[in-house]
Amino acid sequence: MIAYSKLQVRVDLEAITHNYRLLKEIGGRIIPVIKSDAYGHGLCEVARALEPEGADTCAVGYVHEGVQLRDSGYAGRIISLLGPVDAPDFAALGPRGIVPFIGHADTLGALGREVSDPVDIALKFDTGMSRLGFRPEQLPEILDFCARHPHIRPVMVASHLAVADEPQRSGLTTEQCTVFLEVVDQLRGAGYAVEASLANSAAILGHEQCLCDSQRAGIALYGANPFEGTEWRHVGEALLPAMEVSAPVLSVHALDKGQGISYGHTYVAEEDMLVAVVGVGYADCYSRGLSNRGWMNFRGHRVPVVGRVCMQMTCVDVTGLAGKGEAVRVGDVVHLLGGPAPGRILPGELAEWWETIPYEVFCLLGMNPRSY
Ligand SMILES: *Cc1c(COP(=O)(O)O)cnc(C)c1O
Repeated sequence: MIAYSKLQVRVDLEAITHNYRLLKEIGGRIIPVIKSDAYGHGLCEVARALEPEGADTCAVGYVHEGVQLRDSGYAGRIISLLGPVDAPDFAALGPRGIVPFIGHADTLGALGREVSDPVDIALKFDTGMSRLGFRPEQLPEILDFCARHPHIRPVMVASHLAVADEPQRSGLTTEQCTVFLEVVDQLRGAGYAVEASLANSAAILGHEQCLCDSQRAGIALYGANPFEGTEWRHVGEALLPAMEVSAPVLSVHALDKGQGISYGHTYVAEEDMLVAVVGVGYADCYSRGLSNRGWMNFRGHRVPVVGRVCMQMTCVDVTGLAGKGEAVRVGDVVHLLGGPAPGRILPGELAEWWETIPYEVFCLLGMNPRSY
């Protein structure tokens, strides 16, 4: 939480439950991915909202995120997608009922040394992401290890897709799926009744062949369409964005023709203008990259960022709004994300001006003071 920030992040938990139901209709068993503070929407708040909807399993990143979730009173199964890193992580697995993704022989070895009580694990395979996970050809050594360590119990097998949100590269997703299902078969053939989990948000919405026993949904849960800007955008159109962010107007003043504004005078008024100084800057995680590129939403009207985004301030052009009966005053709020129609700012739009993806927009802006 950024203590000095004047931003207000509003999280609509009903939008998240709406998205969860939608994903369940398509994908059946959905594991909410609530790593990194639920993509900035609040770890415990999101878990608590989805538990009554049937989310009996949630996925966090590090083990200590799972400890925090467990200690908040969440009673379901917790999966750690990144697995144990240090001694406190290993020690927390059994007592807190956290199922770690294990994807390296060294981690498996450490588990054998550090943990003596029974512990459930998820075996993570690399089927094409080339990041974390065992190679499929390591299966014999894994099976050998498990036979020698019966208290380490593989209950799940998983892999992660690299390009599921790119319709024109579906072939690679199909390849990953084929490799994964082969691994699942071999594990089951060796006597392990593992739950198989492959699909992320994009695969739930767009790649039916990737649906297995459970699917892991992150970004779609928060209402960003993984297929925005592609020919498959229609499959995510019913998702509702759950985060809105606003900031206060600190000052409204004239900017005369020929005057430059903000550091570096990177914007110079071509005519007489009116500008509002908004209390948001890069210290609040509103990227300096939005200088002269971003837009804000004042009561449904889109207003462009003029000049450089500063540490705690950003200027927007509000010329002409008074003539439309929408005079901007000190203390009014301006939306950086969401806000009233027709100027409502979608996560994908802000991400595009920012030259990033909605995931990063949510994680960063979500660090500001939140309410529900
Ligand atoms: C973050 C993550 C997900 C969720 O991905 P989305 O694209 O947000 O749905 C699923 N699985 C793993 C392993 C992840 O790290």
